[in-house]
Amino acid sequence: MDLLSHDILIIGGGLAGLRAALEAKKAGMDVAVLSKVHPLRSHSVAAQGGINAALDNVSAPVHDTWQNHAFDTIKGSDYLADQDAVEVMCREGIERVVEMERWGTLFSRTEDGKIAQRPFGGAGFPRTCYAADRTGHNFLHVLYEQAMGFNIPVYEEWYALSLVVEDGRCLGIIAFHLFDGRMIPIRAKATILSTGGYGRIYLRSTNAIINTGRGCYLAYQAGVPLEDMEFVQFHPTSLYGTNILITEGARGEGGYLINSLGERFMEHYAPKLMELGPRDIVARAIQTEINEGRGFENEYVHLDLRHLGKEKIMDRLPGIRQITIDFAGIDPISKPIPIQPAQHYSMGGIPVNIDGETPFKGLYAAGECSCVSVHGANRLGGNSLLETLVFGARAGKKAAINAKKEEEMKETFSFQHQCDLFQSSLNKILERKGEESCFRLRDEMKALMMDQVGIFRKESDLIAAKEKIKELKDRFKHIGLKRKELAFNNELIQYFELEGMLDLAETIVEGALARKESRGSHYRGDFPERDDEHWLLHTLAHKIPEGTKLEYKEVTITNYPPKARTY
Ligand SMILES: Cc1cc2nc3c(=O)[nH]c(=O)nc-3n(C[C@H](O)[C@H](O)[C@H](O)COP(=O)(O)OP(=O)(O)OC[C@H]3O[C@@H](n4cnc5c(N)ncnc54)[C@H](O)[C@@H]3O)c2cc1C
Repeated sequence: MDLLSHDILIIGGGLAGLRAALEAKKAGMDVAVLSKVHPLRSHSVAAQGGINAALDNVSAPVHDTWQNHAFDTIKGSDYLADQDAVEVMCREGIERVVEMERWGTLFSRTEDGKIAQRPFGGAGFPRTCYAADRTGHNFLHVLYEQAMGFNIPVYEEWYALSLVVEDGRCLGIIAFHLFDGRMIPIRAKATILSTGGYGRIYLRSTNAIINTGRGCYLAYQAGVPLEDMEFVQFHPTSLYGTNILITEGARGEGGYLINSLGERFMEHYAPKLMELGPRDIVARAIQTEINEGRGFENEYVHLDLRHLGKEKIMDRLPGIRQITIDFAGIDPISKPIPIQPAQHYSMGGIPVNIDGETPFKGLYAAGECSCVSVHGANRLGGNSLLETLVFGARAGKKAAINAKKEEEMKETFSFQHQCDLFQSSLNKILERKGEESCFRLRDEMKALMMDQVGIFRKESDLIAAKEKIKELKDRFKHIGLKRKELAFNNELIQYFELEGMLDLAETIVEGALARKESRGSHYRGDFPERDDEHWLLHTLAHKIPEGTKLEYKEVTITNYPPKARTY
């Protein structure tokens, strides 16, 4: 058995993973990054609109502060965010953004040369720093360049199959080399999961195809509960047809939402903030317009940018213009964009403290796969990039501090044992002559989650969804793979992805069924009000042989007592 070793192993080459890698490397550790795609293909590269930080660069009647940012974030979260974590993010975020500038991010600028900031949903101040509408692209290239500068090795196109855990301590992982189908154990004093979100559980999603949540599943399968999985964000504006994201920056720059009667309908839903209400409220408003017959073709409404003028669109939203021309044949300079809500972000994930530590020793998580929880029941646009940098850095730092205290790694029985187990289950999967197709089951799951566990939820739908997930999990055992070879076997990888997605879907459904209130992105038509008396709680979903068992834990409140949320 080949056994590779590193002090710190980071699973995921997106912003959270690379930022963690840099921090751990600077602390003098032997660090490696492992990613199923080239790091520059991570979903972080697609981030458009920008990153929030109270830089206070834009003149306004009042000055912006990190405390204002914290308040907006907590209110946006419908008071489910842990307030100590939000305070850390908003305070340290300023330094993280400035550091990205120093490392070479091509931020858009104000007239006097400062980092430009645009208004974003649910924010009381123009706080979102941006590089036109390609912020993630800029950031990821900058961090990758830094990682290369420090000679951090990257296992590219390697897939993390499982965690190796002994007595509640993570010792490393079993990896699968996609190129030649070898199974290779990698041990580490610290393993950091930064594997991104699980948007692809839903039919309509702005997420990359690779966003399947396997990292969350690895932790869940090993015995770590998952937190707040029922909170799934739908972005108000995805391009009708392909569901490619049309950034909130388009509304930040002044875009209008218009129904088929020609009305700016947001005045009925968020009269003060209008199109810049928080995402949960705007997404529900759009879907309500469509459901009540005021959409176009019963499918979409219009996002109108025409009044912004050619110059502003070309300068501030060039990527959006290109996307709508390429994928819808529409130039937003002269025509409105057809948009509809689509799944966008996973608020739930692996529970961590503000240093990225999970309940297991030696296991850390950061970025979208984690739940720290700064977004609570609804994330504000621009806060996710910030989370990846702030908590990626913190996780890398803490992992390095703890790993330094560790003794030398010993050979353990677990690696050989787990490799043998995986090898024999792999052989069985490949030999099976089942009739079910992995792709068919995946499509049924996606449609189910979209129709019955989407923007609007109710008990009867959720009960039906629970039954259907059980059925799909049962049929999963009868999948027969057509391709039997191991090298670049995409069908086999899809099989592993689906295995994880079905379990995650179950935690979403169970959490949503149990939570008899409406909060943030979780809207129950049969319980339309927020209920702080009974439900100001985080959900923890544990994996048990029969499915999922739910527990709850308190929300951390520091300086911002819950109150009614109006915009
Ligand atoms: C279209 C779009 C636009 C967005 N725009 C913004 C924005 O403007 N502002 C904002 O704040 N947020 C935005 N977001 C959200 C934000 O971009 C993401 O939440 C964030 O970039 C996630 O970063 P990450 O490092 O956690 O994960 P990712 O960037 O998703 O990276 C995950 C990594 O994990 C690896 N991986 C996963 N599973 C495995 C496995 N089993 N084995 C090996 N490797 C694995 C992948 O290869 C990848 O490298 C946007 C999201 C989308 C989808």
